[in-house]
Amino acid sequence: MQIVEGIYQLLTPFPQFTFEDARALRRQLQEHPRVTKGLPYVLPYMIRDRGETALVDCGWNTDSAYEALEVGMREHGSHPADIQRLVITHIHPDHYGMAGRLKRIADCEVVVHEKDAEIINTRYFAPKGLTESMSRFMQLNGVPEMDTPAMSQGSMNMLGNVAPVPPDTEVKGGERFTVGGFDFEIIWTPGHSPGHICLYEPNRKLLLTGDHILPTITPNVSIHTQTHGSPLGDYMRSLEKLADLDVEHVLPAHEFDTKELKKRILEIEHHHEERLDEMVRCVDAGGSTAWEVAGRVQWATGRLADFEPFMQRAAVGETLAHLEYLFEVGRVAKVMRGKQLYWLPI
Ligand SMILES: [Zn+2]
Ligand SMILES: [Zn+2]
Repeated sequence: MQIVEGIYQLLTPFPQFTFEDARALRRQLQEHPRVTKGLPYVLPYMIRDRGETALVDCGWNTDSAYEALEVGMREHGSHPADIQRLVITHIHPDHYGMAGRLKRIADCEVVVHEKDAEIINTRYFAPKGLTESMSRFMQLNGVPEMDTPAMSQGSMNMLGNVAPVPPDTEVKGGERFTVGGFDFEIIWTPGHSPGHICLYEPNRKLLLTGDHILPTITPNVSIHTQTHGSPLGDYMRSLEKLADLDVEHVLPAHEFDTKELKKRILEIEHHHEERLDEMVRCVDAGGSTAWEVAGRVQWATGRLADFEPFMQRAAVGETLAHLEYLFEVGRVAKVMRGKQLYWLPI
């Protein structure tokens, strides 16, 4: 789908969806934007101007996602082999999964932020240590013994659908790059991932937001073994970085494109403020682990105890991101008791 001449929104399905079903849903959303459940597809963006071709994000490394990319590029007179530069907003498997395959086909320059480049190795090339550190991490946060191996194994299943490749170019944010007549600025927006980037084209007033800003979904901001500091604090500061940009097209990597930037930023901030208040109420006077707090919080998808291990881990990680932010702003304290970390109200 053409956004403006030279910028095309493509679509690649998640492994559990067919291209046809995912595309049908995307068309429905075009006519009736609404809240959707789950993630049926990724929206890569092709920039093609004056004989130059770049792609922002790709999709999972499945044959059907590759075929979908091929179909989408062909509709706009191109082919994956034409890609000269592949910019990855962040290295989550739905955005980066196909990068290795595209590198082989097109010999393109792969561009990743240095903070995400750092975690490619432990996440995709040598994930064994990750499983072990995840077990220790879960123990620290009060996850009951029997649940730990299943939870720490949770993400191993998706590795089959990722073709990792080391980046050719690592960026820090602030760099510019051109594709034909487009002039993009790279904006570092850590939070959802430590090296998440957005791309801004000030002349055409376009902002490619990756997973940082989505029209109805609040992106997951989570603490796990590969996060340091306060990702929710980073995330909130990253939202503010974009708030004053002059933007007419907000182009996210999921759901649908929109014109609303400022309003959506305010909605997301409001959501987290409510969530932070709720988390404070879920901390016992005598102290609680993140697992205990996560068990008391209202999740849109049900009770923590009923979640799949992978989702339990995501919920604990999200709870921790909020607790760490509350600690950062002086609303809770934390203390080690034996091998476990407890959070206390102030
Ligand atoms: Zn993501
Ligand atoms: Zn995503």
